[in-house]
Amino acid sequence: MPTWVDCSESVEEALARLDAESKANAAARMAKKAADAAAAAAPKQRPLSGNALIDAMKSEDLAKCRSLYPERGGDPYKPSWWNIMFGGEGREGLDKIKCERNVWQIAKKSHLVRILLDALKASGCEVDIRRHISCEVCDHSVTGGYDPILNQVVVCQNTARYQGLIQGVLTHELIHMFDYCRNKMDLTDAKHLACTEIRAANLAHCSFLSAWTYGSASPFNIKQRHQECVKQRATDSVLAVRDMPKEEAREIVESVFDKCYGDLEPIGRRIRRGSDDIRKAYKERVYYGYI
Ligand SMILES: [Zn+2]
Repeated sequence: MPTWVDCSESVEEALARLDAESKANAAARMAKKAADAAAAAAPKQRPLSGNALIDAMKSEDLAKCRSLYPERGGDPYKPSWWNIMFGGEGREGLDKIKCERNVWQIAKKSHLVRILLDALKASGCEVDIRRHISCEVCDHSVTGGYDPILNQVVVCQNTARYQGLIQGVLTHELIHMFDYCRNKMDLTDAKHLACTEIRAANLAHCSFLSAWTYGSASPFNIKQRHQECVKQRATDSVLAVRDMPKEEAREIVESVFDKCYGDLEPIGRRIRRGSDDIRKAYKERVYYGYI
């Protein structure tokens, strides 16, 4: 059995469990509808603390993070009647099961995700999928996140609905988890935040862009375009959790760019779309001691 499945349940067990949960969920939704109607009349109570994602952030960023990941604050997601009628919401239980099933299938199939899971295990931070990856409802502007306090990757079940997208989310966020495990990142330090975002954009997102792979430009231009993609993406990611002017975020990204762009661990190479790079990287992981 490959090392990455070495957690509390097998993929087959997980898929069987998700099937059972799917049936139980349908019954629970019927019961919940009746209960919700009664509960709607009762006064609502919000938890006072416990927002794990944002504990590591500056207090002025608290409201921003909370709005991106409402379930991190301990609030179960409650769609408004308007969104249920017109926005296709009210299916959160089913979405969660579909999302979890996709996560398990990607952990089984994706070489890129398996490289990261193996690297985390070899670094002493083994991932138990049920414990460390959580499907949740998020704000529509994000598809995933990493919560350093609970050491959990969030996959946004309402915005990351397809396996290709979920693979991208898992790769990006597992790079943050790897950096947190390996480097003891301090996310209150904007330079640390910028560095891990540069690495995630470099290894996960920008390497799949067509400009990088098929661009009509010369190799020099492709290299420049790739670097610019990483800088822009990292700047946007810093701005997603920090309230600061865009120029300031870009300056921080520039200040650590060379060092963090050159650090290709644990994948070892930039992956070009349509190439053999993922398979090569998967084979090479043995040289880095990741299996
Ligand atoms: Zn990120």
